[in-house]
Amino acid sequence: MKKIAFVVNSYYCLIIVTNSYNYALRLIVCFEKMEEMNMKIIKPRIIIFNMELAQEKICNIEKYGRICYKSGSKINIEGANTFVRKLIANGHESVIEHEKATIQIITDRGVSHEIVRHRIASYSQESTRYCNYANEKFGNEITVVEPFFYKLDSDLYSIWKNSCKNAEEQYINLLKSSSPQEARSVLPNSLKTEIIVTFNFREWRHFFRLRCSKKAHPQMRQISIPLLLEFRKRLPVLFEDIEYDKEFNANDYAEIEIL
Ligand SMILES: Cc1cc2nc3c(=O)[nH]c(=O)nc-3n(C[C@H](O)[C@H](O)[C@H](O)COP(=O)(O)OP(=O)(O)OC[C@H]3O[C@@H](n4cnc5c(N)ncnc54)[C@H](O)[C@@H]3O)c2cc1C
Repeated sequence: MKKIAFVVNSYYCLIIVTNSYNYALRLIVCFEKMEEMNMKIIKPRIIIFNMELAQEKICNIEKYGRICYKSGSKINIEGANTFVRKLIANGHESVIEHEKATIQIITDRGVSHEIVRHRIASYSQESTRYCNYANEKFGNEITVVEPFFYKLDSDLYSIWKNSCKNAEEQYINLLKSSSPQEARSVLPNSLKTEIIVTFNFREWRHFFRLRCSKKAHPQMRQISIPLLLEFRKRLPVLFEDIEYDKEFNANDYAEIEIL
C-alpha cells in the first residue's frame, strides 16, 4: 500500500494506492478541508556573527595564558595554536574562559528551555510576555518550528500541525480579553523563539560534549552538531577533540547563516 499526501487550496489530499484486485478499491482519494489559519511553519536556523569565531581569539588566549609562565617573549615563535593545544591537553581550561562566542539560535521553546539550563552564560530571548503574535508585525499568526522526525505526509505530522493550529486559535481567542503574558499559557512547545547565547569557550566545550551526544534530544542535536562542526572548522584547536553523534543525518542539520 502506498500513501501520497499533499495540500491544495486548503484541502488536505490523501491518495492511497492499495494492492486490491478490485479496481474500484485500488485508488482511494480523500479530501479534508483544512481550517483557514495562518500559522507559519519554519525549520530551525543558526546565525553566526563572523568575528565571534576569529583566529584572533586564539592569539588573545595565548597572550593571557603566557602570563602564567612569563613567556610572552615566545609569542610568534611557538605559535598560538600549539600553545593553546597544550593548555587543553594539560586540562588548563580556565585560560580559555577569557574568550567567548555569541550566537543567535532560532529554535522552538522546548529546545531553548534546554539551552538555558546552562548557567555559565548570558542570554537574551524573544519574550512571549511582550510579543503579541496577533499583531501585524508578526503577520497576525504564531510561528512554529517543524519537528523534523515527523515526516510531512504522515498522520503524526498532521496531529502535530493540528494541535499547534488549535493552540493558535485559542491564543487569539484569549487575546480578545486578556494580555499576551496571560494568553501565552496555551502556546505550544513548538513555538518559534530566537535566543542570543553567549558562552565562554570552556562552556561551549562543555555544552557540545553534552548536547552533541546521542543522548541529547534530536532537535537539540539538529542545532548543536552543525554548530560544533562550524566551530571546529574555524577554531580547530579549541574544538577538534569534541565528539558528536556521527549517525545523525546531515540532511536534518539546521541551516547556518554567517553575518
Ligand atoms: C542528555 C541530557 C538529559 C537531561 N535530562 C534532564 C532531566 O531529565 N531533568 C533535568 O532537570 N535536567 C536534565 N538535563 C539538564 C542537566 O541536568 C543540566 O542542567 C544541563 O545539562 C546543564 O549542564 P551543567 O549543569 O553540567 O552545566 P552548566 O550549567 O553549563 O555549568 C557548567 C559547569 O559548571 C559547574 N557548575 C555550574 N553551576 C554550578 C553550581 N551551582 N555548583 C557547582 N558547580 C557548578 C559544573 O561543573 C557544570 O558542569 C539533561 C541534560 C542532558 C544533556
